[in-house]
Amino acid sequence: MKKSEKFTNKHILILGLAKSGFAAAKVLHEVGAVLTVNDQKPYEENEAAQELEKMGIKVVCGGHPIAILDDHFDFIIKNPGIPYSNPIIDKAIKRGIPILTEVELAYHITPADFIGITGSNGKTTTTTLIYEMLEKGEKSPLIAGNIGTVSCEVAQGATKENIIVTELSSFQLMGIADFAPRIAVLLNIFDAHLDYHGTKEEYIKAKARIFENQTEADYCVINIDDKDVMFAAENVRSKRVQFSTTKILQEGAYIKDQAIYFNDEKIIEIKDIVLPGVHNLENILAAVAVAKLVSTPNRAINEVLTSFTGVKHRLQYVTTVENRKFYNDSKATNILATKKAISAFEQPVILLAGGLDRGNEFDELVDELTRVKALVLFGQTAKKLERAGQLAGIEIVKTVDNVEAAVKVAYDLSNEGDVILLSPACASWDQHKTFEERGDIFINAVHKL
Ligand code: ADP
Repeated sequence: MKKSEKFTNKHILILGLAKSGFAAAKVLHEVGAVLTVNDQKPYEENEAAQELEKMGIKVVCGGHPIAILDDHFDFIIKNPGIPYSNPIIDKAIKRGIPILTEVELAYHITPADFIGITGSNGKTTTTTLIYEMLEKGEKSPLIAGNIGTVSCEVAQGATKENIIVTELSSFQLMGIADFAPRIAVLLNIFDAHLDYHGTKEEYIKAKARIFENQTEADYCVINIDDKDVMFAAENVRSKRVQFSTTKILQEGAYIKDQAIYFNDEKIIEIKDIVLPGVHNLENILAAVAVAKLVSTPNRAINEVLTSFTGVKHRLQYVTTVENRKFYNDSKATNILATKKAISAFEQPVILLAGGLDRGNEFDELVDELTRVKALVLFGQTAKKLERAGQLAGIEIVKTVDNVEAAVKVAYDLSNEGDVILLSPACASWDQHKTFEERGDIFINAVHKL
């Protein structure tokens, strides 16, 4: 671990003790920061807080008392999920205390370079693809973030031989100060998380922060088919590397004659790629661009693309029962993801959808729904989705209690050759703790058939 002067002897408040807060506390303790940790969960049930207290760290549990700011703090490290409207954060901003996320900490404690991937959809898939390609190409990558280990924990063990490949949400990017990835990828921008960011402009601004501290020596990999991405990348200082699924480019990653190219070099025929869906071609083009920028051999890129079947819960093929193929796309928590999932199939699709109501309608889904044969709905948004289904002219629309029931009903409605797809277009929190739980229930129900 690099000795980070930025945090040594500094008074730091860690707000929120999920996985990332806990890891940040341990790392900061090691670099000699003076810590206070504050978490909502009561002390008696809070194993993480108890463990940190044993290490000599001050813990405050059971709520977020504003009086905590009576102590002096140089920084606050905030869990990305805590909104800026939180009274402590609001007051701290007014006092000029920098609010950071743990990825900033990760950046300061390692000599390893970072490859950062952001976008509304496809982060985990692209991050995994890049990691696998670099791994097969013997580039000593480490994967950090959503899947796997928290960034600062990964950074703690990294050397300058490593490259840390990490996905970055807009929430994380809002809490950076100096963080500058060697390569920054921006996949796409869609109206997501507007409940948190307020307006699309704010959301784009948060995404654009991935480029903010880059220099001429760094690279940005950008999707030129997405006008919001182009807007976000307007003033980048880093070298631009473009990718497109629709245009043939002079430089960058693109598709020509049913094959993937980087600059003027043919990398792989599309027919040899296992991952389904045009949206995954976007992710693949971005991953190929990054892999080529760090001199990964084509052999390694090809090995990954001819074998990688997708990350769990992301348009994941589950199994075939009586010639019906089941796909688990539980991670599709917004409309764009579900549109892409439906369009990935040529066969008739029975769609299982519904979940947390964030206040939006589903009109943007109607065009894609015209390709769906039957809808099986559940959760808070069932009624709204039913309306969208009717607008699309779907004749068979059923509402059931939950995902498990939906699998049975969908199977009963299906014919040989159909695809039965869980792609809910909504978050899972009305009925489940996580989208992973929802996906696992789906997988189990399918196996029970
Ligand atoms: P993220 O980490 O950004 O949430 P994932 O790779 O986990 O992205 O994929 C989330 C969902 O978005 C999946 O349901 C997947 O089918 C869909 N998806 C993946 N890549 C893209 C893309 N490039 N454009 C649109 N949707 C995508």
